[in-house]
Amino acid sequence: MRAVVFHGPGDLRQEEVPWPEPGPGEIVVKIEAALTCGTDVKTLRRGHPVMIPRVPTVFGHELAGTVTAVGGGVHHLREGDHVVPANSAPCGRCRLCLGGRPNLCEDLLFVNGAYGEAIALPPRLVARNVVSHRASLPAAHAAFAEPLACALLAIDRGRVEDGQTVVIFGHGPLGCLLAMVAAARKARVIIVGKAGFRLPRVAALGVAECVDATSTGDLAATLRAKTGGRGADVTIDATGRPEVWAQAVAAVTRGGTVVFFGGCAPGTTVPLDTRRVHYEELTLVGAFHHTPETIRRAVELLESGAVNPEGLLTHRMGLAGVRDALDLMSRGEALKVLIQP
Ligand SMILES: [Zn+2]
Ligand SMILES: [Zn+2]
Repeated sequence: MRAVVFHGPGDLRQEEVPWPEPGPGEIVVKIEAALTCGTDVKTLRRGHPVMIPRVPTVFGHELAGTVTAVGGGVHHLREGDHVVPANSAPCGRCRLCLGGRPNLCEDLLFVNGAYGEAIALPPRLVARNVVSHRASLPAAHAAFAEPLACALLAIDRGRVEDGQTVVIFGHGPLGCLLAMVAAARKARVIIVGKAGFRLPRVAALGVAECVDATSTGDLAATLRAKTGGRGADVTIDATGRPEVWAQAVAAVTRGGTVVFFGGCAPGTTVPLDTRRVHYEELTLVGAFHHTPETIRRAVELLESGAVNPEGLLTHRMGLAGVRDALDLMSRGEALKVLIQP
């Protein structure tokens, strides 16, 4: 089969590799849709010791497709099932898994290989984190389950409720998915982004008001004015930039919650107004990755149409286009590129 293989930072190659066969406990999925992700861009630039511990490996981690072969001992999935595999599976045995936080599993197994014609999924993933979905859900939408599950976890961590105002910093695909989930909970959503290819497309989704940070002299004042002078109930950073983490804290109201969703570079620190954190009882929480439960809820939201990601698909390409697709992503000239092998 054809596949796009990662050999190390900057080294992505189109190759012919053997069509996978399922071992015991495994399944083979013929990939119908794969999606580009900001993490791919970062990984291509500098590698990723956690998500890609070994090279070479077929690249990409957001996919959906159809089961074509089932290994011995697999009884809950069968040939012809439409499935979306998550890109990781928790161990189910460590302290954090047993404590109900499998996204923080001490032995999270990551799976890559979305940019190929097919993938063999390992037994732990097959057992815990492959979800079948209705045939009526297009694979191109089902493939959003993974990033959407990350957004769901963050909105859960922010305890976003009906009637609240949520400010999301970052107008990439995850900023948009966070906005869609918050809007589905009947929150009023404001996205802070920067003028360019993405912002008008984000505005066209119709789920959030957009603020262009580059045309606002005083962003904090603009956000205060939009929130009755009080600040937002919940603010979420989806940029991974320390100055934006600080803005997210500055923009939240008394008693509000700040969710740190975007990961900053290793070693980053940010200053904190301790008076506000203490006397205004700010809740500051991190949100990382997803759980088998949020993956399943993500598939339900996509199946029911409560979240429709169609507007995030700005480009469609074949496997030969992966390199170009990731270049578009790194220049901020795409939201999600659909790769159809
Ligand atoms: Zn991703
Ligand atoms: Zn675990």
